[in-house]
Amino acid sequence: MYKNCKNVQYYILGKGSSSQLGSVLVDKRQDDEPIVVFLIDHFFETYNIIDKLSCTNTDIVIYVNSTNEPYTDYINELLDYCKNILGNKLPVAIVGVGGGTTMDIAKAISVLLTNDGKAEDYQGWDLVKRPGIFKIGVPTISGTGSEASRTAVMTSKIKKLGINSDYSVFDQIIMDSDLLKTVPVDQMFYTAMDCFIHDVESLRGSMIDTISRAYAEKSLDLLRNYFHNGMNPDDLMVASYFGGCAVANSNVGICHPLSYGLSLVLDYHHGIANCIVFQQLEEYYGEYVKEFVAIKEKLGAKIPAGIIKDVTPEQMDRMVDATLLNEKPLTNAFGEKWREIFTPDKVKELYSKM
Ligand code: NAD
Ligand code: ZN
Repeated sequence: MYKNCKNVQYYILGKGSSSQLGSVLVDKRQDDEPIVVFLIDHFFETYNIIDKLSCTNTDIVIYVNSTNEPYTDYINELLDYCKNILGNKLPVAIVGVGGGTTMDIAKAISVLLTNDGKAEDYQGWDLVKRPGIFKIGVPTISGTGSEASRTAVMTSKIKKLGINSDYSVFDQIIMDSDLLKTVPVDQMFYTAMDCFIHDVESLRGSMIDTISRAYAEKSLDLLRNYFHNGMNPDDLMVASYFGGCAVANSNVGICHPLSYGLSLVLDYHHGIANCIVFQQLEEYYGEYVKEFVAIKEKLGAKIPAGIIKDVTPEQMDRMVDATLLNEKPLTNAFGEKWREIFTPDKVKELYSKM
């Protein structure tokens, strides 16, 4: 069977384009007493971004605490908050303004408002039964590709696994590079390199097809142009979007499974965890690792080192288990017989270098 692939339906790209959000919402606001739910990264609490986004005083505006990456409990709390205000109404749109954390939460709230139950009930593939609320993604930091993907990543008490559904794809995205201006260099590097790693892992994997290859290759070209030729933020935004399209329809490889172990046991955020891991994967991704290190040095970005020295044997075992749960990515990277190549000892050896 060939996959039936879904992409975002509409996009707007351009400096300052987030001020067009109001016009995108005009049709939706024709409803009687329309309510739009805005989920905005807490960084913007001190910026007057609301005027630009055309919020009205009947909308629900929530500043998302992105200190931690999304936990199901937090998503359920935000869902209850919205439901309490909405009563038996549904909003006409959900708008997620932020990085991967906020956009993923917006995607999750969109489907949870129209499907019964809690966030953890939908962790997995194609478990969502009904379409969500019309949703708009406005990235303010680029690299995760959440704006393009079917995934809303979240961690429950027992697992880090996203909602993966055609219903969790944004209906509209607005890529306004003005919003990236305030991202600190280290954070920009960690999130941008998530995109670099998505591209490399999909290109080097066996699950790729011609469309994903085209997306991944172009995404890498744009990233290289961004880092080596003037740092035009439009290049980074589109690289992120294309990288998301590439990985959504192929798969990740060796770096992501190892990075999930670091996130689950040591609480490292996704981008930085990927960077900690990727530097140690030269035997698999050779020239790409050299390129990664050159970009890191050019920017003077800092990646934590020596993080394993205080890890207990029990923690190490949990990280190894978390890595080896990722059957699809590891099959993508090594083939069906991945277990014979990527053994628990090999995983421990790689972790020990970090
Ligand atoms: P993030 O959303 O966690 O934000 C990182 C930090 O950047 C936060 O402190 C935030 O306040 C700050 N920030 C955001 N925009 C800013 C701006 N314009 N100026 C200044 N600071 C700003 O970071 P991220 O790397 O974009 O997202 C990581 C999350 O994305 C993880 O939860 C990861 O699992 C998820 N993810 C999702 C997908 C997907 O397909 N859905 C893919 C990869 C990663
Ligand atoms: Zn990633």
